[in-house]
Amino acid sequence: MEIFSNTQKMIAKKIDADTVISNWKDWKWQVRHTIRDIPTFEELLGIKFDDEERAELEKTISIFPLSITPYYLSLIDAADYKNDPVYKQSFPSPSELLVEQCDMEDPLAEDKDSPAPCITHRYPDRVLFLVSNVCSMYCRHCTRKRRVGNIDSIPDKSEVRKAIEYIKDHTEIRDVLLSGGDPFMLPDDHLDWILTELDNIPHVEIVRIGTRMPVVLPYRVTDELVDMLKKHQPLWINTHFNHPKELTNSSREALRKLADAGIPLGNQTVLLAGVNDCPVIMKQLCRKLVKNRVRPYYMYQCDLSEGLAHFRTSVAKGIEIIENLIGHTSGFAVPTYVIDAPGGGGKIPVMPNYLISWSANKVVLRNYEGVITTYTEPESYKPPYCDGHCSGCNMHMSIEGGDESKSVGIAKLMCDHDPVISLVPENTARMERRADE
Ligand SMILES: *Cc1c(COP(=O)(O)O)cnc(C)c1O
Repeated sequence: MEIFSNTQKMIAKKIDADTVISNWKDWKWQVRHTIRDIPTFEELLGIKFDDEERAELEKTISIFPLSITPYYLSLIDAADYKNDPVYKQSFPSPSELLVEQCDMEDPLAEDKDSPAPCITHRYPDRVLFLVSNVCSMYCRHCTRKRRVGNIDSIPDKSEVRKAIEYIKDHTEIRDVLLSGGDPFMLPDDHLDWILTELDNIPHVEIVRIGTRMPVVLPYRVTDELVDMLKKHQPLWINTHFNHPKELTNSSREALRKLADAGIPLGNQTVLLAGVNDCPVIMKQLCRKLVKNRVRPYYMYQCDLSEGLAHFRTSVAKGIEIIENLIGHTSGFAVPTYVIDAPGGGGKIPVMPNYLISWSANKVVLRNYEGVITTYTEPESYKPPYCDGHCSGCNMHMSIEGGDESKSVGIAKLMCDHDPVISLVPENTARMERRADE
């Protein structure tokens, strides 16, 4: 047993020390004992809200419910809880009830882009598959806040089957991203069934799981779970650490087990005001992650979901953080900063500008130190002409039929073989005038 934190001692005092010690690392016990009401939270943390505050908090959780695992709660520093990043991510704030004009119920239009139950199909070759709508800990900054705690929306087996059918019927899908809710809330055998079904679809090349369990309930990563996951390679896992404080011994142990099983690990962090909107914190987080074999993958601008206004930062803050990472630390410790486009446009990367100017044969660049330099472009470079059919190409790569049909967006504008010369928004007055003529 690890040394008890003060909060853990508190929990032990309230529940019964022996029970707590013997069950602490049992994830099902942790789930059964999630803290779901304000008085229990106050009691366990040894704090007291005044009546007005408590009433506001009660009102908040009646709309956006509360759930914290005893493990995650034990990370809160009771002496300074109001500034604690774990507290801020897990405990409600009455600010969640302030809806701003730009807020949306489903900002990423995940429901609109859903051709089958539990599926969001936004990109050409991959889908998001929501296999669970429950979590052990409810992140206050959840982008799917509209559904948190909504038991009715837990997909049943027939819905999951329909989703699997959709993936079977669409041979362009080569990457399936299991998310939720937390897929690791499912029993091992249920998850095993889903993964086996996906393994049996020939065109599905990789499966990914998005889970916050290594952060909020690391004991979920049992040897049995890892043994089951190992059978389903190639499987990638993305987790969600937001603050260096979350990388505890227990968390690191969960990450070690997954990495030792040969599962590549990534991290998706959300830029949150008051939690990690600081270059020093973010750099330490990224360094700690790579030290534990987790590759920082994305840093998200906080979405426009209802109830998240108090968590949002300016985009400038995100760019400032990336400016403090690129060049300053290992390249693979730098996540890609993305804004998930409202309306369903997908993830859009944003970063500082390094390309300062351009002449006929030179680009002018600046590095992280402020050095301004030039790169002279070759005078005689001739890009190979591409007709979209790899079979006629001499680059030692014959791809049946080429990739012609898949040219999309700006890439389509750039390609040699497509006659399209511009992308024009629909319904502009100019286009309507043309149609009238
Ligand atoms: C994020 C996301 C993906 C995966 O995007 P990657 O950039 O490949 O990680 C797929 N589908 C949806 C709907 C997503 O939001």
